[in-house]
Amino acid sequence: MSIKVENLTHIYMPGTPFEMTALDDISLDLEEGKFYAIIGHTGSGKSTFIQHLNGLLKPTSGRIVIGDVDITDKKTVMSEVRKRVGLVFQYPEYQLFEETIEKDIAFGPKNLGLSDEEIQSRVRKAMEIVGLDFEKYRNLSPFELSGGQKRRVAIAGVIAMEPKVLILDEPTAGLDPKGRDEILAQIIRLHEYYKSTVILVTHSMEDVAEIADEVIVMSDSRVIMKGLPSEV
Ligand code: ATP
Ligand code: MG
Repeated sequence: MSIKVENLTHIYMPGTPFEMTALDDISLDLEEGKFYAIIGHTGSGKSTFIQHLNGLLKPTSGRIVIGDVDITDKKTVMSEVRKRVGLVFQYPEYQLFEETIEKDIAFGPKNLGLSDEEIQSRVRKAMEIVGLDFEKYRNLSPFELSGGQKRRVAIAGVIAMEPKVLILDEPTAGLDPKGRDEILAQIIRLHEYYKSTVILVTHSMEDVAEIADEVIVMSDSRVIMKGLPSEV
């Protein structure tokens, strides 16, 4: 799905001594099916921006249209946003809570009104994409896994929702080089498989130089550049 961001501004704690403009008049057009990377220093506004794309924050001003729905309109219900946009948070492995891996990944799809067969087939597919064998892992507890494996379960949980727009906030943070390469390979695979728009937030240009169609650079609450990886 395409995304249109118009004059988006976000001020945390307005009118207090802690007032902080985290997004300053951002306008962006993102095309359906493309792979975008957002890079920028700590505190530049990346996480604030993608939380807006997922409807988790309300703008101070401006609007965001995804497909044909204005997700910042007060009348838009959150389930409409959830159906379109999936967000994998920074350090998602801390948000696993079900007793088995299969149940954890099925948690989101269960709220979509799908049949049990369809849910299981989605879980199976999502596990395959993140490189976890369904029969071997389905009945394990997520707590028995390594950090990198837990993160894969969390990513599978979001991709099993089959969102039209998939956002990942620093999915490689804190992983060793092997874990990092595996996660990136899986993200490439899921982009090829689902044809969804992907937005990958990262500190490292290395992560995305070869896989992103376009790179968006944020600095001091603004988008300062958008272009091919070779241009930034
Ligand atoms: P990082 O690379 O460290 O994850 P980021 O680019 O994701 O950084 P944000 O988390 O969006 O940056 O933060 C942007 C600015 O907004 C920072 O100055 C931060 O301190 C501030 N900020 C973030 N969340 C809040 C909040 N809930 N309340 C107040 N200020 C916040
Ligand atoms: Mg962040």
